[in-house]
Amino acid sequence: MARDLSNQQWHGIPRKEIPWYPTVDPEKCIGCELCFVTCGREVYEITPDKHHKARVVRPYNCMVGCSTCAMVCPTQAISFPNREMIWKLEREYKIFKLVHEEARVKKEKMNLAQSRENAEQQVAKAITRARFEVAGGFGEKRFLMQLKEFIANKPIDIVNVTMEVPTLQDTFREAPGYMRFEVTSTQQEDIQAYLEALRSLIKENQLVLIDETHLT
Ligand code: SF4
Ligand code: SF4
Repeated sequence: MARDLSNQQWHGIPRKEIPWYPTVDPEKCIGCELCFVTCGREVYEITPDKHHKARVVRPYNCMVGCSTCAMVCPTQAISFPNREMIWKLEREYKIFKLVHEEARVKKEKMNLAQSRENAEQQVAKAITRARFEVAGGFGEKRFLMQLKEFIANKPIDIVNVTMEVPTLQDTFREAPGYMRFEVTSTQQEDIQAYLEALRSLIKENQLVLIDETHLT
């Protein structure tokens, strides 16, 4: 079912008080149907016969000031009233106070949409969990102790710790071993600043960072 936009207002002016709509010259219309396809406001219908002529059936659905269909018509079969008529109405109805208010609301909506988009991008970029794989000498659990100090009083935790050393004795020596653990936010927040500090800690302990995978 076609929409009826004729009861709407144009910046406070009842739409039906503005005679802005297309007129088709049936003599010039070659039935290409371009106006019908182009108009998104269902102003036109096409005759059901073999000529496919365009007819204006919902004139007040037309957007005031739009003349797109006339621009694309290949035979200049479509005409509009003089634009002076719109300018006269704008002055008569003093619409600009309302237009400024509409502009303010529009800007607010655009800013809100932009803020929302920015916030969504921030959330999308956030990392809340990361897995580290390191190798080297963990020396008398020194690195483990440092990790414990590292997370103290921070909204992060270290979980799923796996350590592999060739022998038990090696745990207390500088013998090379392998360790995997995950750093996770305890508050579902971005932890990238902590990851940077953790990389430094790994480096300071002369361990090799084999891999760092961001899990969220
Ligand atoms: S675009 Fe012009 S020629 Fe084509 S159907 Fe519409 S009025 Fe007719
Ligand atoms: S001027 Fe615009 S809104 Fe009006 S009939 Fe043409 S395409 Fe549709």
